[in-house]
Amino acid sequence: MGIIERMRLDGKVSFITGGARGIGKAIATAIAEAGSDVAIIDLDMEEAEKTAKEIEMLGVKAIAIQADVTKEEEVDHMMQIILDTFGKLDVAFCNAGICMNIPADEMTYEQWKKVIDINLNGIFLSSQAAAKVMLKQKKGSIINTASMSGHIVNVPQPQCSYNASKAGVIMLTKSMAVEFAKKGVRVNSISPGYIGTELTLQSPTLKPLIEQWNEMAPLGRMGRPDELQAIAVYLAGDTSDFTTGSDFVIDGAFTCF
Ligand code: NAD
Repeated sequence: MGIIERMRLDGKVSFITGGARGIGKAIATAIAEAGSDVAIIDLDMEEAEKTAKEIEMLGVKAIAIQADVTKEEEVDHMMQIILDTFGKLDVAFCNAGICMNIPADEMTYEQWKKVIDINLNGIFLSSQAAAKVMLKQKKGSIINTASMSGHIVNVPQPQCSYNASKAGVIMLTKSMAVEFAKKGVRVNSISPGYIGTELTLQSPTLKPLIEQWNEMAPLGRMGRPDELQAIAVYLAGDTSDFTTGSDFVIDGAFTCF
C-alpha cells in the first residue's frame, strides 16, 4: 500500500475540542476527508452542529457535543457520549483555546486564571480523558494545540498568560508522551504561528496588528487554517507511529530569528 493510502483514517474515531470553527474546524474537516468519524466539541453548540452537518456531507459520521473543557464533569460526559456513540476513541485533538492581550502589570488574577484554565487546564482535562480510554485500548494518538507563543514572546502585544499557557501545553505534551510511550498512546503538539481565524481576525486588540505581523513574517503573511490540515492527518494516523513527544512549529519561519 502506498503512503497516501496508509495515511488514510478510515474506521477511526476522533474528537476535536474547539472544533466548531477556526483551526479546529479545519482539522476536523481534514480528518473527516481522510475517513475518520468525528465528534465536534465546543461551547458554541449552534456552530458545532453546523460544522458537524457540513462534515457529514463528506461521508463520515459526525456529532456535536456541547462541553466546556475547563469543567471536569462536562469533559467526562463528553467522553461518555463518544463511547456510547462510537464504542472507542482513536484520536483526540485538544485544541480549544483563547487569548487575552493585557500587560502583565495590569492583568487581574481572574483574567490570568481564565486563560490558564482554558488553554492549559482544559488541554490537561481533555487529553487526560482521552488517555484513560486509549490506555485501555493500548492505542491512540493525542494532539494538543500549542502555539509559537509557547516558544517565543511575540511582540508587540502583551500576552504573558497566553505565552505561559502554551509553553505549559508543550511540556504537558512531552510529559504525557514519555509516560505513555510504552503503552501505545502517542502525544504530540502543533504550534501554529499567526493563522487567520476568528481568534485573530475578529479580535479588536489583535486585528490592528495584522499588518505589523505580516511585515515581521518571513513569508510576509499569516497562515490559513487549511495549512495545518496535513500535519493533523499525519499525526492522527498510523504512519506517525514513531512520532511522539514532538512539537511541530508551523509558523512560516516566524520563530526563526
Ligand atoms: P477560535 O477562537 O477561532 O476558535 C476556538 C474555538 O474554541 C471556538 O469555537 C470556541 O467556542 C471554542 N472554545 C473556547 N473556549 C472553550 C471551552 N472552554 N470549551 C470548549 N470550547 C471552547 O480560535 P482558533 O484561532 O481556531 O484557535 C484554536 C487553537 O489554536 C487555540 O488553542 C489557539 O490558542 C491556537 N492557536 C491559534 C493561533 C491563531 O493565530 N489563530 C495561533 C497559534 C495557536
